[in-house]
Amino acid sequence: MGGYGSGRPGYRITTQASCRLDIMTIQRQGAIEPGACTQSTQRWISTRSRQETSIGLLVDCRADPYALLIYSRQAGTDVPTVERVRASISVTQPHYGGRRYWWHCPRCNRRVRILYLPPGAGDFRCRVCWCLTYESSNESDKRVSALVNDPLKMLALSRSAMAGSSKNIMLLLRAYDRLEKRWR
Ligand SMILES: [Zn+2]
Repeated sequence: MGGYGSGRPGYRITTQASCRLDIMTIQRQGAIEPGACTQSTQRWISTRSRQETSIGLLVDCRADPYALLIYSRQAGTDVPTVERVRASISVTQPHYGGRRYWWHCPRCNRRVRILYLPPGAGDFRCRVCWCLTYESSNESDKRVSALVNDPLKMLALSRSAMAGSSKNIMLLLRAYDRLEKRWR
């Protein structure tokens, strides 16, 4: 296990690095209307490359609701192609009233709030299908790795924990856990 960073094996793409279509946000924008067909454009700017992705969205709720996601896809230096992906939508009625919309992942049909298009990928899928991780769990993974690779730091944290500080207990437990797996 050598250090950490983007080159670390097993490092997963995060949800934040992916273009996301949050159906709740889209609903708040008024781009989903019961009984109607609505067109809108969703924009997303990559925090890394500063590149803008724009997705044309056509939401048809006249019968069984679904959306068409229209976006251009460029593989390498090829001429961009236009993709049209159909995603089913389902509606639930929360206790507090109103309507709540959900995507169905075009691949696994799982009911989700957000569909993701990771950098370089061609289609929208749910977080599980893309094996995406949240930024924060990668961050704490990095902290656990740093601890496991630095026994002195781990000792210092263990001492402060024994002295009654509960601040880093979870982190320590995860580090111990990782060490135990390593030596088993
Ligand atoms: Zn899926």
